[in-house]
Amino acid sequence: MKLLEHEAKQIFRAYGMKVAKSIVLDEWKEDSFATIQREVGENVVVKALVNVGGRGKAGGVLLPEPTPVAIQEACERLLGSELKGVLIEKVLIEERLFILHECYLSITLDRLKKSPIILFADDGGVEIEELAKDQPTAVRRSNVYPLCETIPDYISRYIVNQKSLQGIVKNVQIDAMTVAEIRKLVHTLYQIFREKDCTLVEINPLVLTPDGVYAADAKIILDDNALNRQHIKQNSDLSALEQEAESYGFSFVELDGEIGVIGNGAGLTMATLDLIHHYGEEFNIRPANFLDVGGGADKERVRLALTVLEKLPNLTVIVVNLLGGITRCDEVARGIIAADISHPLILRLAGTNEEEGRAILDGHGYIMHDCMESAIEAAISHVKANKNASDSSGGSA
Ligand code: GDP
Ligand code: MN
Repeated sequence: MKLLEHEAKQIFRAYGMKVAKSIVLDEWKEDSFATIQREVGENVVVKALVNVGGRGKAGGVLLPEPTPVAIQEACERLLGSELKGVLIEKVLIEERLFILHECYLSITLDRLKKSPIILFADDGGVEIEELAKDQPTAVRRSNVYPLCETIPDYISRYIVNQKSLQGIVKNVQIDAMTVAEIRKLVHTLYQIFREKDCTLVEINPLVLTPDGVYAADAKIILDDNALNRQHIKQNSDLSALEQEAESYGFSFVELDGEIGVIGNGAGLTMATLDLIHHYGEEFNIRPANFLDVGGGADKERVRLALTVLEKLPNLTVIVVNLLGGITRCDEVARGIIAADISHPLILRLAGTNEEEGRAILDGHGYIMHDCMESAIEAAISHVKANKNASDSSGGSA
């Protein structure tokens, strides 16, 4: 689960890290300027509070003149508009930092080495991706033995190197205190990474200012499997439909295509999505979701799964691709009839009690396929026909 910038910075603050004063605003009111003046000051940065990377480059970070009019204008420009397709409902108004230099610091999981990895670049900011690509050695890395509760000092000494940093930063003298401050941050960040069950903690930019080293930006991704341990009841990253599906215990991801998918087992369900991409890509036809009903799904689970899928906004057709092992095809068939859904269904049921399943569905007008390729091709044809029909009728309003 991704945290928003101000939530991540709240954690940074609690761990004693330097973060600019800030307030969150969801609409400009008569007293907004007075509040900003009191809580933050007049010299501010206005940032779109959305979970989108690269806001700076996309126009989501504004540096208004320190006047009521300019600050209001900056807030109103962002509020209600979209950044990379995401609606900006809130802005973060922060005291503007006097930035002497921007560095990059993060800790994430190195899945190949099965351990946390610390990344640091003397030169950070909005071009970090380019730097990492063009000059991979400019990003220093160090893996941490996974059972370490704290990182050994030699790691932070290697990661933050005074000479190397001074080589990049020409305009400021990098003194021992600054180096010690950044090294301490590396240790603190690792503590956060462990204690908050993160899969990523990132500060980009980590900035040098006349008042010390500040986290000018903050990104934290929590491990979804640890939300319970972190006492987080609801994953705020999930859409309303994903939350509903989660409450039924389905493994469900909402996507934006036309073909709804129900499978059993993550592998078979992923393979179904892959086939939709394989056959549908050239027609711009995509899956509408991922839903794994799990093993041994009974009539009620299948019915529930179908009712969830029916709420997908672009849904045109549903493919049910189930392999009967402990799941019995006759139970699935009963669930399909009980759901009585309004969208066309394309079925591929194979395995345990397949014949009984077919017999139950016989006469209900469902199309049964023997293999998943033909089921997917049929679904794509259906979406194509549907698109053509709405195109020739002038499209829907
Ligand atoms: P991102 O583009 O979504 O990563 O947003 P950031 O919060 O990292 O901001 C992007 C850029 O805006 C930073 O790299 C800075 O150059 C600039 N910026 C952000 N906050 C401040 C600030 O307080 N003072 C100044 N001068 N620039 C800032
Ligand atoms: Mn940033």
